[in-house]
Amino acid sequence: MVQSAKYVSTRGADANEPKSFCDILLAGLATDGGLYVPQAYPSLTTDELAEMRMLSYPALACNIISRFVDDIAAEDLRNIINKTYREEVFGSAEITPLANLAPGLHLLKCSNGPTLAFKDVAMQWLGHLFEYVLARDELELNILGATSGDTGSAAEHAMKSKQGVRVFMLSPKGKLSPFQAAQMFSIQDTNIHNFAVEGVFDDCQDMVKAVSNDLSFKAQYRIGAVNSINWGRIVAQVVYYFKAYFAATTNNSEKVSFSVPSGNFGNVLAGHVARMMGLPIRQLIVATNENDVLDEFFHTGVYRPRQSSDTQHTSSPSMDISKASNFERFLFDLAWRDPAVVRELMQKVDSEGGFDLSACDQLWGRVPAFGFVSAKSTHQDRLATIRMVHQKYGVDIDPHTADGIKAGLQRHDGSVPLICLETALPAKFEATMAEALGHNPPRPEKYIGIEALPQRFVVLTTSVDKLKEVIAKGCQF
Ligand SMILES: *Cc1c(COP(=O)(O)O)cnc(C)c1O
Repeated sequence: MVQSAKYVSTRGADANEPKSFCDILLAGLATDGGLYVPQAYPSLTTDELAEMRMLSYPALACNIISRFVDDIAAEDLRNIINKTYREEVFGSAEITPLANLAPGLHLLKCSNGPTLAFKDVAMQWLGHLFEYVLARDELELNILGATSGDTGSAAEHAMKSKQGVRVFMLSPKGKLSPFQAAQMFSIQDTNIHNFAVEGVFDDCQDMVKAVSNDLSFKAQYRIGAVNSINWGRIVAQVVYYFKAYFAATTNNSEKVSFSVPSGNFGNVLAGHVARMMGLPIRQLIVATNENDVLDEFFHTGVYRPRQSSDTQHTSSPSMDISKASNFERFLFDLAWRDPAVVRELMQKVDSEGGFDLSACDQLWGRVPAFGFVSAKSTHQDRLATIRMVHQKYGVDIDPHTADGIKAGLQRHDGSVPLICLETALPAKFEATMAEALGHNPPRPEKYIGIEALPQRFVVLTTSVDKLKEVIAKGCQF
C-alpha cells in the first residue's frame, strides 16, 4: 500500500482532494469530464529496476501495480494478482512470452488469454479485483457496454461467475465474426447478459450512452463500465512492457523500442507510463489503420476526432475508432500537467472539432522527448505484412499485429531492439487471414467447434426504454 498513490483529473477536478485507487476504479470519467491520472508517476531507482529483472510475472505485476494502489492491503493485492496471472489462464508461466523473429526484432505475445486478445491481460485482473472490492465494500456493480468484438468477450470471460458483478453487453446483430459471437454467446453463466441489437455498433454505443446519461437509473442500478479509459486496465498493461524489456535485454543500460497497434490509445499509453516510471524505452511507435486520428496528430500536431460516419470499417476492426479516448492522458503530460491547458484544448475539440499544436513549440516541440512516432497501415499493407512474416519468419500474425509490425519496421530507428506487440491471435480473424495466406489459421484446440455450442442472447431493437426494462429485470437475479 503506497500512501502517495493518489489520483487527479486531467481537467483539474479533485486537485485539492485527490482520490484513491478504488474510488476511481469504478468512477469512469471525472466529474469535470476529464480522465483520472496519478498525481505523480512512481519513479524507479536504478536498484529497484535491477531487482525487477529477476521477478516472475506475478511478482513483477505485484511490484508495479502496488505502486499505483493506496487502498488495498498488500497481502490482498498479492492474492488478487496471483489468482489472475496463472499458467492455466494464459497458457504459460511467462504470461506474455517474448518471441524472437530476427536479430533485434521481437514479438510480445500478449494474446494467449481466454479470448485470444491482449485485452484479457487487463480484464482478467479487473474481474478478480472487482470481485474483491465489491465484496469488501458490500456493493454490487452492473457493467453496461457496447462491443464490436474483442472488448465484450474479454469483459464477459473475466466477469463470468464473479460475485457481485453482472454484465449487460450490446453488440450489433449479425456483425460480429462467427467466432467472436460464439465466444460471447456461448457463455452460460447467469450473470452475463448478451443483447444482439438490430443496428450497427454506433447504435449500440448510443444506447449505452443514453442509459448512462439517465443519472437516476444509473445510480439506482449501479451501472458501471470497463471501457479502455479504466485506469485499472492501464496499470495492468504497464506490467508487460517491463516484462518484455527484461526479456529482450541483458542489462538495464540497454534501450528498446515498442510498436503498438492502437485504437483508443490505452495500450500504448501504458508504454508511456512505463517510460515515465523510468523503463529505458527509446521509441513508442503508434500504429493505426485507415482510421488515422493518431497518426495525423503525431505527424502534423493536429488532433481532429472524426464523426462516427467518417469511421471506416477495416480488416483490423478493433482499431476502428473515431477518437482516441486515452489520448487526453498523454496530452496532460505533454502540457506540463497543467489542467488549464488541457481544458482549453478539449474545449476546442468540442467547439471547433479539434486543435492544432504545430505552431506551439512549448507543446508540439516536446513530443519527440516522449519517444512517440507513428505510422498508418492499409488493408493491402496488412495482407502484405501477414504474408511477409509468414514467409520470412514462419509465424502467423493477426491483422492488428500486422499493422503494428508494418509501422514498427517503417519507423524504428534501428539502433535498439524493436518489440512489436501481438494484440490478437490470427484465429479470431479467419477471413482476412485466408485472404492473405490462402488458408485458415490454426485454431487453439479448445476453440475448435465453438460456433456449434448452444448460444444465449436476447435480440433487441434500438429502443432505450426496452433496454432499461431488460436491465432492470436482469438485476432481479
Ligand atoms: C483493443 C485492441 C486494439 C487497440 O488497443 P487500444 O488500447 O484501444 O489502443 C488493438 N488490437 C486489438 C486486437 C484490440 O483488441
